[in-house]
Amino acid sequence: MSKLSYRQVHLDFHTPVLPFKLGKNFNKETFQKTLKDAHVNSVTLTGRCHHGHIYYQTKLPARHPQMEGDFLMEQVDACHEIGINAPIYLTVGWDAFSADKHPDWLERKPDGSMYGFQDYGQLSPGWKTLCFNTPYLNYLKTQIIDTMEHFGSKLDGLFFDIVWQDECCCNYCIEKMVSRNLDPENTDERQLFAKMTEKYLKDEIYKTVHTLNPECPIFFNEGNILPSIQSNLEEYSHLEIESLPSGEWGYQHFPTVVRYAKNLGKEYVGMTGKFHKVWADFGSYKNSAALEYETFLALAHGAKCSIGDQMYPDGTLQPATYNLIGSVYKEVEKLEQYNENTRALTEIAIVHPGVIMDSDTKVDFSLAGAVNMLKEAHCQFDIVDLQMDWNKYSIVVLPDKIIMNDEIKLKIASYLENTNGKILATYQSGLDEKKQFLPAWEVTYFGENVYNPTYGQYCSFLEKQLPKGEIVLHGQGLLVKSAQSHVLGAEYCPMYQRNYQHYYSHFQAPVSEASGYVVSSQSERVIYFSHPLFEMYKVHGVQQYKQMILAALKEMLGHMFIETNVPTTGEIILNHKCDKQELVLNILHYIPQRKAIELDTIEDVIPLKDIYVKLNIDKIENKLGYQIGDIKQVNDVRNNYKLKFKQQERSLEFQVPKVNGYQIITINYERTV
Ligand SMILES: [Zn+2]
Repeated sequence: MSKLSYRQVHLDFHTPVLPFKLGKNFNKETFQKTLKDAHVNSVTLTGRCHHGHIYYQTKLPARHPQMEGDFLMEQVDACHEIGINAPIYLTVGWDAFSADKHPDWLERKPDGSMYGFQDYGQLSPGWKTLCFNTPYLNYLKTQIIDTMEHFGSKLDGLFFDIVWQDECCCNYCIEKMVSRNLDPENTDERQLFAKMTEKYLKDEIYKTVHTLNPECPIFFNEGNILPSIQSNLEEYSHLEIESLPSGEWGYQHFPTVVRYAKNLGKEYVGMTGKFHKVWADFGSYKNSAALEYETFLALAHGAKCSIGDQMYPDGTLQPATYNLIGSVYKEVEKLEQYNENTRALTEIAIVHPGVIMDSDTKVDFSLAGAVNMLKEAHCQFDIVDLQMDWNKYSIVVLPDKIIMNDEIKLKIASYLENTNGKILATYQSGLDEKKQFLPAWEVTYFGENVYNPTYGQYCSFLEKQLPKGEIVLHGQGLLVKSAQSHVLGAEYCPMYQRNYQHYYSHFQAPVSEASGYVVSSQSERVIYFSHPLFEMYKVHGVQQYKQMILAALKEMLGHMFIETNVPTTGEIILNHKCDKQELVLNILHYIPQRKAIELDTIEDVIPLKDIYVKLNIDKIENKLGYQIGDIKQVNDVRNNYKLKFKQQERSLEFQVPKVNGYQIITINYERTV
């Protein structure tokens, strides 16, 4: 049952002390008309911002000093009057008002300096991060109760922002760590304590809200959704994937995170922004093709949409912004029904590296490489953690660094025992703490490779996909051996490892002779590559690394769900309508371009013509658990046109004449009992 609105605006309002009355030009009718005309049906409004200011009538001293009346209540009432949902945003980790009044409430690094956002020193303008082991937590809870009591039954939900704890060395944290027998001088123990604090913080906020209103929707935003969310997952009513592609998230983030988030059993929202850059880039308007792509991709993945904006201090919304949002949301309103109440039809699971270790980057490079390879080949796949069911996938991919612990070993043993599924593993995946590979791998570990880069020479099915001759492997690999019958590729060393004594031309020395080690091997259930091919693809973009992985997947799967001539720049997402006999095929074609030194955007929609699609019905039936009978209709939704199709024994083929950015094809079938 869907509860979240499809066309949301996340309306920031981080407003410092002003030389005029806050919201002096707010006009209820204009505000309502602007939102209505832009097809918006939910607005997240600001209750307390990063300046620490509160925007409703409160006795708390942080009430915005230039506010007269009850500004937030006016906005909430204006929204409710026209049937628009109005959840409230409350800052958590950044609050300049509290930071200035109580510097002892700030997080501290081991050297006593602060944590914060961008430029945040004593004489700098950025946000400083507060610590939740200080009395700030009590203030936070008091302020949440204050908001809930003030809005009472008008409260549509709470969005908590900046919900994380860094490894902190403030006096409070040191005292608490010592009392729990944790060592503040040990980085690992500081990180552990930070994770414990984060869990405690969410528990405390949840209890505070739940005591007053058990039905109040809650989301905790940390700018990412990682497997660590599992420890508090039951406290989230839904998920919001903050992912502004022109900001630090890039175009890599959303397509990755949504494939994990959609398996967490909650409704989810894809949140982008209307700004050209990131939040609060006032006077900028995202290219409409980019905004289209970002919202349509959310729809295709079964998500609701949210577009970020910021209200001006005088209480106005900008017409150009809402013309832009409206132009996209008008289309979203027409299209949102097609992927509503669907589930993704997927045959491959990628195990999230976050089950083993945190990443230094917003998206782990090995995960990013895996997503890119499979997405470019139009594979249908999910990203899973250790709590999720692996048995429903034909292949489990363990990218680069899934080092075995007892929990993962059990998970893999159960998968191999209970399914006919196969495993594709690279580099350290499958290796345990004793430096032994799991028996199913049938490879033996001989240490780290001394050559980087080195070369591989491939045989069997890999040979057919790759250029004749050696392929350079740009990455640190492992030395492994396997039975001759299992070898898919042999290592050929370079003439020497490049160093001050021996160097050759500009880069690595050319290939020399076989080392006796293997770079790829195949056992009954596992195909293994000794190099981190996924991260190497993300870092170097060598097409052959992708070809190796795709050839291995094909070898293990036979044919996949979808065969098509859609180029690598296109995306295909196949869903199944839960309450109908209908498949929903989403095809997107938008190409992000590096137009600026630090950001990608999309300016043009480049149409695709004469798209061929073949669905392998037998594979899809396996996933659905029943047989598909006659295909009744194949509909081109955006052109309102029935497509001709050919149903063979176990496949369905059709041509889509044109994909202009985003196309939805619905396929209605009879179910054979
Ligand atoms: Zn602290």
